[in-house]
Amino acid sequence: MRAVTVNPGVADSLRLVEDHPEPLPEEGAILVEALAVGICGTDHEIIAGEYGEAPPGADRLVLGHESLGRVLEDPSGTLQPGDLVAGIVRHPDPVPCPNCAVDEWDMCRNGQFTEHGIKALPGFARDRWRLQPRFAVGLDPSLAPVGMLLEPTSVVAKAWEHIERIGARAEWQPRTVLVTGAGPIGLLAALLATQRGLAVHVLDRNTTGPKPGLVRALGATYHTESVCELDFEPDVVLECTGAPVVVLDVMYKIAPTGIVCLTGVSSGGRTIDLDAGALNRSLVLENNVVFGSVNANRRHWDLAAAALARADPSWLDALITRRVSVEAYAEAYTPEPDDIKVVLEFGS
Ligand code: BGC
Repeated sequence: MRAVTVNPGVADSLRLVEDHPEPLPEEGAILVEALAVGICGTDHEIIAGEYGEAPPGADRLVLGHESLGRVLEDPSGTLQPGDLVAGIVRHPDPVPCPNCAVDEWDMCRNGQFTEHGIKALPGFARDRWRLQPRFAVGLDPSLAPVGMLLEPTSVVAKAWEHIERIGARAEWQPRTVLVTGAGPIGLLAALLATQRGLAVHVLDRNTTGPKPGLVRALGATYHTESVCELDFEPDVVLECTGAPVVVLDVMYKIAPTGIVCLTGVSSGGRTIDLDAGALNRSLVLENNVVFGSVNANRRHWDLAAAALARADPSWLDALITRRVSVEAYAEAYTPEPDDIKVVLEFGS
């Protein structure tokens, strides 16, 4: 069968393998036929040789962690043949650490977790894959065209859950949300903000292309000025750019008792001047919280599936700006200027 693979640590080693072995029964009882995988910045980092790890004993890693497939067989009875399914990315560490011991693998403390298509587990960019029932998330049949958005939605569902848990430390009545970055994570974070009835502002550099319209279609406000120039102080910020200046600016801009959730993975290596004392003073005197958030556990995947089922299907569809057949995989992994989410489609 076909599989999109890389040799981790080796730049530009992306290849479509035509004779990849069928998934092993040990991978799980549920056999799935791939429909599509979404592509994100992590895939680009892996292809550049900067991230990623092959399974033990292998030299190639199958890519793909934003999955969508159709169940072929499930002897466990959890799902039915024909059901739409996505695979949870991260598996708990074997020790396990206190968080992995209670299935909070997104909060793994020892770094020994594994991740499909990223770290020591084969990804979902192959014709067939297998899942254990606890890592299989069923999707509403109406999500067939867009279900590969479940993984990035799980990431923002976790971010929102943690924001709300932190907010609950005192009386919490947020009204305004600022999302920085209108990529897939930012737009999905904004979607979940509108589902909470908040006033949503999205800031991005792009003045053209599909992003301004997608933000307005949510009933949110699109901004292209700098964070400092905004004429309001947000109660919540979801920072989805990882751009150092934006990260610092939102920490200053946040309202008293406000919460900044950082989700953007910066590349590092760029230094900027910072008055650490002034920043500390502003965070302390306003009871602010700044925290990082990555990955998602089963609870967040289930929340994300419910959030997608409630969303406008045509809005979700418009996030997918390119659909590329697996045979043309190299095009899919070559970024184009107006890309939001690029999807690699399987199918015979
Ligand atoms: C994925 C996460 C993963 C992270 C770090 C992201 O692209 O969405 O599930 O934990 O990369 O590997």
